[in-house]
Amino acid sequence: SEDNSLQSVEVPKELLGGLLSTEFDKRSCVGRYQSASYRKELPHKPSSYLISRLRRYEALHKKCGPYTESYNRTLERLNSGHHPESSDCNYVVWISFSGLGNRIVTLASAFLYALLTNRVLLVDPGVDMVDLFCEPFPEVSWFLPSDFPAKNQFDIFDQNYPQCYGKMLKNNNFTYSNGLMSPSFVYLHLVHDYNEHDKLFFCDEDQSFLQKVPWLIMKTDNYFIPSLYLIRSFEQELSNLFPNKETVFHFLGRYLFHPTNPVWGLISRYYLTYLAKADERIGIQIRVFETGNGPFQHVLDQILACTLKENLLPEIDKEKPIIHQSGTQISKAILMTSLTSGYFEKLWDMYWEHPTVTGEVIGVYQPSHEKYQQTEKQTHNQKAWAEMYLLSMTDVLVTSAWSTFGYVAQGLGGLRPWILNKPENQTAPDPPCHRAMSMEPCFHSPPFYDCKAKRGIDTGLLVPHVRHCEDISWGLKLV
Ligand code: GDP
Repeated sequence: SEDNSLQSVEVPKELLGGLLSTEFDKRSCVGRYQSASYRKELPHKPSSYLISRLRRYEALHKKCGPYTESYNRTLERLNSGHHPESSDCNYVVWISFSGLGNRIVTLASAFLYALLTNRVLLVDPGVDMVDLFCEPFPEVSWFLPSDFPAKNQFDIFDQNYPQCYGKMLKNNNFTYSNGLMSPSFVYLHLVHDYNEHDKLFFCDEDQSFLQKVPWLIMKTDNYFIPSLYLIRSFEQELSNLFPNKETVFHFLGRYLFHPTNPVWGLISRYYLTYLAKADERIGIQIRVFETGNGPFQHVLDQILACTLKENLLPEIDKEKPIIHQSGTQISKAILMTSLTSGYFEKLWDMYWEHPTVTGEVIGVYQPSHEKYQQTEKQTHNQKAWAEMYLLSMTDVLVTSAWSTFGYVAQGLGGLRPWILNKPENQTAPDPPCHRAMSMEPCFHSPPFYDCKAKRGIDTGLLVPHVRHCEDISWGLKLV
């Protein structure tokens, strides 16, 4: 039931093609509407169906969100453990877990799952979610109230938890599943170490069982959307929502993730001071998964080999002291992000000490160098979020293989990056990088199971739009 009438209506640029609701107080989250003026026009338009589903979701959220009458009623059933006579509000609770990039891609996955199953998404605030993200839905909060019954158990939820779906399947605990009684809540373990039973979440049959469970509580560190595309019952709805499959995270991300005012301050000040005036912005995201502190010579070699070979940055001339560019001087700004400052310093020296062969002038900038991952520290994650966002505002992007930090930047920016291939044995790989097939994140640990035939299968070969990732051969991504 696609509503085409929306398509012809002119919407202001700040609403991102109708993706954003107009119902917010602008001051509470300045970046929500302001960010559009910092970016180029969206190259893609959200489908009118996606827009209408988001408005419908917002209405459901308003009806079922925290402390509404429906919420209180459904919660009573959770407390009593009684089987609900079909409730009008069902929920997905997302547990705050893992690094910030991981959290952003999993939250987008949980939201899409909520859309597909008519559930309401509630977000465990963890230690810092409230400091990082504005409320994405008008009027009623998306944060799980602190008095939610099972909240103090989130840390101990794992594969051995009695209400873990995989464990219940394994123990054949669903004697009451034959239409008699389904549990009032189930814990879904979708973390990378999940087992064959947990993975049955991605089967049609299991989805139809889970439909009857009012509370699904989910822990995940993976962008699992590619495997939702392989569930038959979601197929049609997904294709209506996203005619262009490459834009799933792009639109969900632009809709859901708006930096709070303190983070928007970090972003906008940095952008206006260092990046806005350049003719072109080049983002380089360096994430090294090797032991030892770095900087490593082979990583530096790789960065240069990639950016020079792909003509993303100009060569320097070591012979001539000065090179004149005919016409107006072109300036480029490189935005680097990395836990160390070593790579930044090398590039900075290089473009200061020598002219470029093209005569372009190159500024090199890196907002922070936090040395190591400090997931529980507030300002650390505010800076990490600001940096992902700044990378997404560049024109050309180079990312590191395996990193969700980079996936977030490319997806929000609508950018198809050059991926620096993962170095092996402390050597720069050849080729150093290659262009991504799409701007979508990679699902790092997908299931390889044919639910119907009940045997293993290569899920990267089933449909043309779900393929193996460039950076992780066994991963899955939408193209
Ligand atoms: P992934 O591990 O690369 O997939 O990305 P995550 O974001 O999930 O986890 C890495 C965490 O390390 C981030 O959330 C930051 O806390 C930190 N981190 C990694 N790289 C950077 C960086 O370039 N800048 C900042 N500020 N933090 C970083």
